[in-house]
Amino acid sequence: MKVNIREYSKEELIQQFESRKIPGFRAKQVYQWLWSHRVLDFGKMSNLPNTLQSQLSDQFSIEEITVDIIQRSQDGTIKVGFQTFDQEAIEGVIIPKDDRYTACISSQIGCSLACTFCATGFLARKRNLFAWEIYDQVYLLDELSKLDFEQSLTNIVYMGMGEPLLNYDEVVKSLRILNDEKEGLGIGAKRITVSTSGVARNIIRLADEGLKINLALSLHASSNDKRLEIMDINKSNPLELVIPALKHFYDVTKNKISYEYILLSGVNDSEEDARELATLCQDFPVYVNIIEYNPVDDVPYHKSKKEHRDKFLEVLRSLKVQAKVRRSRGKDIDAGCGQLANKVK
Ligand code: SF4
Repeated sequence: MKVNIREYSKEELIQQFESRKIPGFRAKQVYQWLWSHRVLDFGKMSNLPNTLQSQLSDQFSIEEITVDIIQRSQDGTIKVGFQTFDQEAIEGVIIPKDDRYTACISSQIGCSLACTFCATGFLARKRNLFAWEIYDQVYLLDELSKLDFEQSLTNIVYMGMGEPLLNYDEVVKSLRILNDEKEGLGIGAKRITVSTSGVARNIIRLADEGLKINLALSLHASSNDKRLEIMDINKSNPLELVIPALKHFYDVTKNKISYEYILLSGVNDSEEDARELATLCQDFPVYVNIIEYNPVDDVPYHKSKKEHRDKFLEVLRSLKVQAKVRRSRGKDIDAGCGQLANKVK
């Protein structure tokens, strides 16, 4: 059985080559083809001798994800259903807005956390994605962005299917490859955001990785009681653990944290909810993104009324919280997290 060459780090690849009596500099060349240029055919690695190309083809495989479905929304949002090597469905989205082209990517197939308002919560977690599968989403979405918008992606958010910090090692590996200027895609850390539902111990680890990426917390409720109703993770990671972990992230990186807050009518959109949310914004600089709910089939939640949303925002601003409303995008193409994969299953 051939091993997928994309699972090796550069150091592991050098060891693999040396154990086959292939000089280490060849491993560096192959690594660059794989990660700077996403060349997935040894025969196209033009600075390798033909004999080496054949040897590598005999001894290694190169796996990839492929584009399965593309849906284009009237608002410009593009949703892509990808197929993995083991025939699973994952999804990524390109969100164009002004001069920003943001790719939202997945980190797991399904999700183990089952937040009650989320379509991905209905998909049992099948497995974690490999770093190269995360990288492929970015690369392929970037190609699509160049074709459709004549623009490269400007921002990457780990906000699609899955909880990135429950696939910690592969997510960190993918972040390093995306960020690596010489042997990766060279995407600036400031343009990458990891969004977590609040895995406190891994927020602390991530702070200490030396990556200068941004962090977003999917907060969605500002008290433990309310959060427990909609987000199971709050049982093991209550706010008393998550907020200090975020403070540590800020203290180490000095990057402003953002809170994602989906307004659900009658659930978390009262004035009292807004005041409680403001108290969670006091320990370190926070930006609050209020998100309009993208309805999910068979889920008993509704989008907040406009007057409730406006009042919520007004209370936050009166308490000096920086906040804005993010309109829901791609409603006509199931662009909410997990919605497409749910339908193509
Ligand atoms: S909101 Fe995120 S963490 Fe929660 S079920 Fe959906 S994908 Fe998983």
